[in-house]
Amino acid sequence: MGKNLSIDGHEARRIRVVTHAHSDHMIDVEKSIKSSPKIIAHPATFEIMSILGIDVPGNKIYRAEYGGEIRLEDGTLKFLRSKHIVGSIQVYFVSETGFTAVYTGDFKDPISGTEIRESDIVVTEATYGSPEYVRPYKDIIDELLADFVSELLSRGPLIIKAYYGKQQEVMEILRRYGIAAPYIAGNKVYRISKVAEKYGVKIGDLFLEGTREAEEIIKQGWYIYFTHTSSKKLDNIVSNNGYKHIVVYLSGWEKELYRMVDRNTYIFSYSGHSDFEDLVTYIDRARPKYVIVDAYRSGENARKFAKYLEERLNINASYKPEISICY
Ligand SMILES: [Zn+2]
Repeated sequence: MGKNLSIDGHEARRIRVVTHAHSDHMIDVEKSIKSSPKIIAHPATFEIMSILGIDVPGNKIYRAEYGGEIRLEDGTLKFLRSKHIVGSIQVYFVSETGFTAVYTGDFKDPISGTEIRESDIVVTEATYGSPEYVRPYKDIIDELLADFVSELLSRGPLIIKAYYGKQQEVMEILRRYGIAAPYIAGNKVYRISKVAEKYGVKIGDLFLEGTREAEEIIKQGWYIYFTHTSSKKLDNIVSNNGYKHIVVYLSGWEKELYRMVDRNTYIFSYSGHSDFEDLVTYIDRARPKYVIVDAYRSGENARKFAKYLEERLNINASYKPEISICY
């Protein structure tokens, strides 16, 4: 973006912005660390990156705070709050002449959680940019998730599998709805949760796997073990104590609220992304002259979203990169 900036992707010698610590937004960040003059991210993102083994040298770190800004050669960069994972930022650029552009990064809950400013150009995500992706339960989803977890907890200890960031969001939501069961996590998830806590996420009782306290809790059989979606090792950690664990995967999209895979495995639909309606709300409020839909992650939905904006809302839009779609 602009002359000097590269956001969530690498371009040699440009300032690199990392909007949040998900791997698909940190592609080639090691190259950027080598060749970019600065890496810009929220302080929480730097801390999570470090836990994930990505260390940025101190002289290249620029900590972006919500509401903060940095002067660049051709304008000013401001950092806006985004509801996605702890530390998520949006990047809002104001040129010398007053021209504005925003890069949303991943977000959900426009208005209540994600800040929206009017902007000449919006570069938006569109993971669920196709009109059929509307979540009927989204206004009460937190409560539904807590009820679901509470019900399952009465049957035995639970394992919740989710991406980094979503785990910590869910830890907080369950507490808000009165779930008091202690949480247990392995090293990485535990440390990321401590970072989240430092930046305001209210997690409550959380114990590091392998400690005496965690072992005691596991023996008692009432707890929630949080781990990464792709983690395999958890099964032997918690399977030796005689309890049958129930595994809940948090997935971005399911047709129904949840799906039972078998009696002990469920997939619950809980996303960190806007659905179609929320994406439209964002665009509507930002009143852009032009929208670029980020097609890097979900090309087909990005194409559909750009088409919808042009044909239904009369807003100039395109999707990039223009990938070829195979049927
Ligand atoms: Zn993300």
